[in-house]
Amino acid sequence: MPQLSVALVRDRVRGTILERIGDTPLVPLKRVAAGLRGEVWAKLESANPGGSVKDRPGLWMVIDAEESGRLVGGRLVLDATSGNTGVALAMVCAVRRHPLELCMPDKVSLERKRIARAFGAQVVLTDPLAGTDGAIREAQRRAAADPERYVYVDQYANPANRLAHELGTGPEIWAQTGGRVTHFVAGVGTSGTVMGVSAALRPKGVRIVAVQPNDALHGIEGWKHLPTAIRPPLWDERAADEHRVMGTDEAIAMTKRLAREEGIFSGVSGGAAVAAAIAVAREEAGRIVVLIADGGERYLSTPLWE
Ligand code: PMP
Repeated sequence: MPQLSVALVRDRVRGTILERIGDTPLVPLKRVAAGLRGEVWAKLESANPGGSVKDRPGLWMVIDAEESGRLVGGRLVLDATSGNTGVALAMVCAVRRHPLELCMPDKVSLERKRIARAFGAQVVLTDPLAGTDGAIREAQRRAAADPERYVYVDQYANPANRLAHELGTGPEIWAQTGGRVTHFVAGVGTSGTVMGVSAALRPKGVRIVAVQPNDALHGIEGWKHLPTAIRPPLWDERAADEHRVMGTDEAIAMTKRLAREEGIFSGVSGGAAVAAAIAVAREEAGRIVVLIADGGERYLSTPLWE
């Protein structure tokens, strides 16, 4: 992998919307986390221009592919995604002028399919019952069948995904808290967020809390039930100090409370992460930072907000 740095990535996207990726707000949760031993602060990744945390790895993976010289001759960028990475890659590829093909399970929210298409991506829908793992297998099949045609960025294994968080998200949180962050809480999808922030902040003494759904048949889009899913090659459980599980009902209840009590319209994975952070704050003092990966607008067509 070429040596990516914040300065190099910034240089490549100067003067475009992609320059606005990162530097997302950090806000204290004053009501849903009132009266606990720890304070809870939320990092609002919906403030990225593509609307989710995945803008960060989307940008870094494409710049990495460009720098490595693989993205030449009109080759297609390819990935499997549960949606947010698709939107991020589509936005980045529109600006960087690369054609893009996305394999998505035909159960991702309508909004994400349509937004990815609006940015010009080709969307290949895969068996909804096979979930993200089915989309991964289809992307692997396409890349293997026609290696000259595709640059398969493979967010689950791409070190640039992790690096976007190690050099971006982690140091931002450190700076925004003046070094007073004590815990970082996030869910695991590709694990890029947890792995990268862990690499940046664990050496500084921050406790890393990784959260996953408590059941294989969960409704937390973007998260993985690791015991039953294809294991993301980036994932190493030793990067977290603590592992927690979260149920879908509790996640949905907290997603609704975030909107009504904090004015934060989050996706369900954000509600799940906040519910886990609150569980930590009940037990431990400190300044707990939790990552809210996307916004609720992206799920308006789902039964949740009917
Ligand atoms: N929440 C949502 C809504 C997501 O789309 C993702 C990315 N799959 C995550 C959480 C997990 O982030 P990561 O892939 O960095 O583990």
